[in-house]
Amino acid sequence: MSEDFFLFPVSFAQQQLWFLDQLAPGRPVYNLPGAVRFKGRLGVRALEESLNEIVRRHEILRTNFQVIDGQPAQVVAAEASHRTLPLIDLRDLPPEKREAEAQRLSVKEGRRPFNLAHDALLRSKLLRLAEDEHLLLLNSHHIVSDGWSLGVFLRELVALYEAFSNGRPSPLPELSIQYGDFAVWQRESLSDDLLKHDLDYWKQQLGGELPLLELPFDHPRPPVQTAHGARQEIFLDKSVTSALKALGQRTEATLFTVLLAALKVLLYRYAGQTDIIIGTPVAGRNQTETENLIGLFVNTLVLRTELSSNPDFIEVLRRVREVTLAAYEHQDVPFEKLVEELQPERDLSRMPLFQVMFAFQNAPLPSLELSDVSLELLEVDLGTAKFDLTLNLSETSDSLNGYFEYNTDLFEAETISRLSEHFQTLLQSIIADPRTAIDSLSLLTEREREQQLFEWNDTSRHYPAQTLHHLFESQVERTPDATALIFDDEQVSYKELNERANQLAHYLHRLGIGPDSLVGIMMERSIEMVVSLLGVLKAGGAYVPLDPEYPQERLLHMIGDSGCRVLLTQQKLIGAVAAEGLRVVSVDEEAFREESLENPESATSAENLAYIIYTSGSTGLPKGTMLAHEGVVNCLWWMQETFNLSGDDRVMLKASLSFDASVWELFWPLVVGACVVVAQPGGQQDGAYLVDTVIKHNITTIHFVPSMLPILLDRKELSDARSLKQVIVGGEALPVESLKRFFTRSKAALHNFYGPTETSIGSIDWPCDPNLARPTVPIGRPISNTDVYILNRDLQPVPVGVAGELYIGGAGVARGYLNRPELTAERFIPHPFSSEPGARLYRTGDVARYLPDGNIEFLGRADEQVKIRGYRIELGEINSALAQHPDVRECAVVARESVTGDKSLVAYIVAEEGASLTVSGLRQYLREKLPEQMIPSHFILLQALPLTPSGKLDKRSLVQAEGTRASLAVQYV
Ligand code: AMP
Ligand code: MG
Repeated sequence: MSEDFFLFPVSFAQQQLWFLDQLAPGRPVYNLPGAVRFKGRLGVRALEESLNEIVRRHEILRTNFQVIDGQPAQVVAAEASHRTLPLIDLRDLPPEKREAEAQRLSVKEGRRPFNLAHDALLRSKLLRLAEDEHLLLLNSHHIVSDGWSLGVFLRELVALYEAFSNGRPSPLPELSIQYGDFAVWQRESLSDDLLKHDLDYWKQQLGGELPLLELPFDHPRPPVQTAHGARQEIFLDKSVTSALKALGQRTEATLFTVLLAALKVLLYRYAGQTDIIIGTPVAGRNQTETENLIGLFVNTLVLRTELSSNPDFIEVLRRVREVTLAAYEHQDVPFEKLVEELQPERDLSRMPLFQVMFAFQNAPLPSLELSDVSLELLEVDLGTAKFDLTLNLSETSDSLNGYFEYNTDLFEAETISRLSEHFQTLLQSIIADPRTAIDSLSLLTEREREQQLFEWNDTSRHYPAQTLHHLFESQVERTPDATALIFDDEQVSYKELNERANQLAHYLHRLGIGPDSLVGIMMERSIEMVVSLLGVLKAGGAYVPLDPEYPQERLLHMIGDSGCRVLLTQQKLIGAVAAEGLRVVSVDEEAFREESLENPESATSAENLAYIIYTSGSTGLPKGTMLAHEGVVNCLWWMQETFNLSGDDRVMLKASLSFDASVWELFWPLVVGACVVVAQPGGQQDGAYLVDTVIKHNITTIHFVPSMLPILLDRKELSDARSLKQVIVGGEALPVESLKRFFTRSKAALHNFYGPTETSIGSIDWPCDPNLARPTVPIGRPISNTDVYILNRDLQPVPVGVAGELYIGGAGVARGYLNRPELTAERFIPHPFSSEPGARLYRTGDVARYLPDGNIEFLGRADEQVKIRGYRIELGEINSALAQHPDVRECAVVARESVTGDKSLVAYIVAEEGASLTVSGLRQYLREKLPEQMIPSHFILLQALPLTPSGKLDKRSLVQAEGTRASLAVQYV
């Protein structure tokens, strides 16, 4: 560096870039590369002189950054030393290779790091491709330049070259101020009251916790943000551009505002979040003197808009316009200063304040014209991205073009090309009717719609329109002597099972049981239990499982609600419930052993009910789902076509009857001639017992809820269980680790089978791939005669990759909830995509997304339903049980997940004044109302429940409250 230099403070933006460079020196992400193509006879000398003159005029181009007195400072060389323009001649290469080499060199040059303390921060190099074709490679560090500066640079270059090549002196007037003056002014003005006023605006706008925009990433966010990026071009033609401009004119919005509003709607639809923040660069040259300077002036405005309550696009435009105008008014606060003031939580995985940028250039670059040479500015893509996603658009004479730049550690290219297409469909849809509510605007292309709604649901297959018991009876005729059941050492043949069930059926028939009448079954797992299930169906009725472990109160509610007048039970359970008008029949008694052994006639058809299963209800009482034979038969038929059980297969029956996995465990083998091995009561919990039984009885097919899978995988004897052909898991999400562990232990096939009780056992299936290379296990595709949809609130299909709610239609859809017409109407909606009269869709409450290949990924719940070890629980039900306790003033129940993924229930309670609550008292109280699975494992007493302004439980502060529970809590278990 020359002896003569002078010093300036750094501007705020420079300070930030300097700081970032200190953290990770020489990253190319803040390089600003560019290239200018010259065609015609280029005067290299004149070009070199022009470049030197520009450096002479602009002190910033001879500035370096060094620490002076502990602070970074701009060190400006007083004299501009002459720089020669390096020339690389590519004419030695064959002509067809020159362009590629030029490309390679431009990227290589563009990525070359700068040493901010010592290097010239503007570099240039000339490539000669032919006698009359040159490429000028430029590269500067952002700390001395910005997008606007490029325009200044090119304008001066053209003017100077034109003059020098004709032997004339520079026509440019000297600059009145330099960048250093600006930096000084900025530092001084920042102490002003004026700025304080601006800052207040931003604090009010962006204070508090800011949302993190969760776009549908293809990969988990790395803990430290990377700048690996790529671009995809986007072009909006004349008709779209002029329609958007016209829309802007009608609504007094600029084209920028219209595009920004549309981008916000796109992000809203993609992320499902309503509070959308986008950053946008502004020139930051509010004083006319700065307009002709090269230097870092660009500032970033943070534009936050709330899109809740499904407004129409015009309203969004109004909101965006308002926020944009206010932001412009307060734009003097440098972004870096703002970050410093707001002190957002430090998180190295992302940019502070916003993750998506929209950059719009409507000031066209100066027309590049020289008398005997033509110029063209080229973009150089270094493969970097500063943000998760940036939309860069430039307005040309009558169209818009630009690119999406995205972080390649987060997104796959195909995701961005879809996003870009969706942006364009969205714009079309806005143009067609800007009064459309934003949930209803279209995103999907026709092709995608067709694929999602129809191609991926092309599942139609024949299945028998028969009842379960008829299918069983046909099997009895085929294989009367085959073993149907094994329980301990007892074996029951198909014929014998049929006859015993027939006797019970005749007996029930005489009690008035017929189509759609309900019979309670409260029994432990046993041969009698199976006889009872078949007996009820054969009588023509439907069964209602009543778990003997449930508290009285709950059982009585289920009996009362279902209106069942007959309850089948066992001797030892008799007396567990008694209700007026309820006939309790002990199946181990011989009462009906006198009945006929013949199959009873029944008027029951496939549309009649087979069973009603009660599940937890959010409003405080369990609800019964009514399932007909046909849906169940369809599911079992699909299972048979998929797994092809034969007479040699053995299936373990171990699920509780209250869980519909038991339906397939029992009826699937019984309608195809396989054998059911009935597990001991309680045996489902006991890993050693299960593995022993699998080995002892040569079980081929077994069900597990994923959280119970470890009790199988933990047994090393599992590898000896050679008989096992398929393990079917379902009921909750299957972790990838379990999948991987499974395949190290077993040669059996593993299926991830998804389905709510409301759609007949299972609706979606994924045959697990041992080589799965995704962070989650997909749930796959719909089974036969089943159609699934992933929809937004307006029942519009969401794009591939985007989260939406899962809806299920087809053969399995239940009749509805017993005695709950309103709830039924809410959850079973008219099918929006089917022409079949009366067709309905079940709204699952599950959040899911499509993977690009059409497989479905389960993401979680949209509501307060949780699964604890496969047991379906509405937190609201526990809450309302607790709230009824006289000493409980307020309460909240949450499911907490441990680091190992185990979930447990925690109840937060605020006691009434003066009340003395004990944990054991609360437990006892709940045990009288709720099944054991629904009793929280922890009770925490607080002095007040932390609530958000909208009255919801503030889970973040709960965790904090728990952290300080020593002072707050009365009791903690
Ligand atoms: P249930 O009615 O007990 O079968 O519970 C149905 C709910 O369990 C679904 O709505 C899902 O939330 C969850 N579920 C069932 N199967 C799966 C699966 N394979 N993967 C993830 N969640 C599942
Ligand atoms: Mg299920």
